[in-house]
Amino acid sequence: MIEEWRQDYSILAAGRLKNLWTMALAAGPAGQPVLDNIVFEFNTQTPGIMEWIRERGADFVTVCTREQKDAIAALLTKKMRDGHTVDELARMIRPCIGLTEGQAAANARYYDSIIANLKKEHPRMKMESIRKKAREAALKYAEKQHRQRAFTIAQTESAFAYNRGADYGVRQAQEQGYLGMMKKRWSTSGDDAVCAVCSALEGMEIDMDAEFNFGGRALFPGHHMLPPAHPRCACAVEYIEEVME
Ligand SMILES: [Zn+2]
Repeated sequence: MIEEWRQDYSILAAGRLKNLWTMALAAGPAGQPVLDNIVFEFNTQTPGIMEWIRERGADFVTVCTREQKDAIAALLTKKMRDGHTVDELARMIRPCIGLTEGQAAANARYYDSIIANLKKEHPRMKMESIRKKAREAALKYAEKQHRQRAFTIAQTESAFAYNRGADYGVRQAQEQGYLGMMKKRWSTSGDDAVCAVCSALEGMEIDMDAEFNFGGRALFPGHHMLPPAHPRCACAVEYIEEVME
């Protein structure tokens, strides 16, 4: 089964995500004011860019497959095995294929809370009916969770590529002599949804090759050099020419 998941994620990465990464990368430089007045053509077919897309695809498949294993493991802990029948567990796992570990655990908690509620509110209801109702509710919740995860993946993967596109664009303009020494400045979207991690980074200026200190495990080499800092992070960087004194 794990091999099948890996293949499913590979198909997703090679098909839809490759297009999404390519388009977001190409759009990246358009968000940079320093490139506005330069007649410069962004080359999206460089070995570096093609390698980034290929690597991102491979890492995406690895991470998703591992997440999938962890999600199933979360549903098969001792506590879960002791508290549910084998049939219940089998039926709980199925809608959770494709969810993260956290989502799968939340779905199991939701299922358990429905069971507990129904038992309390309807003491005479048959256990079989209670489980059926809980299963249906958990299935509906899983559908919502799948949509949320799909949105998170699309948003976050676009952000990875968009920000790298801007960086490649600025570097190409530098190589062609249009720009001098540059710094990058963290820029949050500025709305109320900005998290504490990103708020702390707002306005921070560092060298082009330096990393931002937003912590967490690097998902791929260079992850910390640019936004996004976390899933659904809407931050960007602004490139600014260094003033020589
Ligand atoms: Zn952010």
